[in-house]
Amino acid sequence: MSATIIDGKAYAEGLRGRIAGAVSDLADQGFTPGLAVVIVGEDPASQLYVKNKARQTVEVGMRSFEHRLPASTGEAELLDLVARLNADPAVDGILVQLPLPRQIDAQKVIEAIDPAKDVDGFHPINAGRLMTGVPGLVSCTPLGCLLLAQSVRRDLSGLDAVVVGRSNIVGKPMAQLLITQSCTVTVAHSKTRDLADVCRGADLLVAAVGRPEMVRGDWIKPGAIVIDVGINRVPNPAAGEGKTKVVGDVAYAEAAGVASAITPVPGGVGPMTIACLLRNTLEAACLRRGLAMPA
Ligand code: NDP
Repeated sequence: MSATIIDGKAYAEGLRGRIAGAVSDLADQGFTPGLAVVIVGEDPASQLYVKNKARQTVEVGMRSFEHRLPASTGEAELLDLVARLNADPAVDGILVQLPLPRQIDAQKVIEAIDPAKDVDGFHPINAGRLMTGVPGLVSCTPLGCLLLAQSVRRDLSGLDAVVVGRSNIVGKPMAQLLITQSCTVTVAHSKTRDLADVCRGADLLVAAVGRPEMVRGDWIKPGAIVIDVGINRVPNPAAGEGKTKVVGDVAYAEAAGVASAITPVPGGVGPMTIACLLRNTLEAACLRRGLAMPA
């Protein structure tokens, strides 16, 4: 069997196009959604990510507000900025880039963001809304994973889904989203016994572990849909000394021989995260103004 490759890059491009159309319609009604991104410190990966977010925000026609603070920024100073962004009517979405420097309690900052502007979906109010089935802002990466799974199978209802990983930002919201889709969900983690066997029961397998190519081909049920969230940089001696490459949590070549559909890394879930962030900003902007979310 040769799996369908789920092209996250193309899906994300289409989603951004639809968002741009909706933003243009809103401009005709007299307003432009705005996304504020706050970054503390100089971490190169975070800097690049924030730069990409800002570029794509502007590309879909939204306003981008970037706040770059030094690594020495104190917690009170950051909380003060969040309070100002909460009160700023031009800001519909607030994202504070994680990780934060050690002197700042990230959970405190997340909880300080107005849940109506929490486009990362990390605030306990939004996590609770997802859990209780009340509309709210949903964490971007799991939302992207769901859209990709639905792109190959519209109705996931009744599927046995296994989510490997139980982090607050990926694994747990992913499991909740799949419950809302009427999957039978198992959440696996580092203490799970016989993980390979648990994975073999999955019609839909989501790997969000952070361990390069941990999920092997013989862990996968023939015909399963495989969504690989992992982003792991590993040495790539074939490309030259000191060179690296990015791989997922799934051994792609092995898995692609067994699965019915699979996301590649890179080019699968990764591009969906920013697209879903923009989608959430649009949704937050509409909700705050009592407008229906455009299709
Ligand atoms: P965390 O480190 O927060 O969580 C990892 C989870 O995997 C934990 O629940 C942990 O279990 C579990 N785990 C670790 N080792 C094993 C193991 N050997 N067997 C089974 N389970 C294990 O990571 P994140 O959820 O933040 O991210 C997961 C991956 O997704 C990373 O590669 C990250 O880079 C990537 N990522 C990609 C994004 C994208 O845009 N594509 C966005 C966010 C993350 P336990 O709880 O028991 O410790």
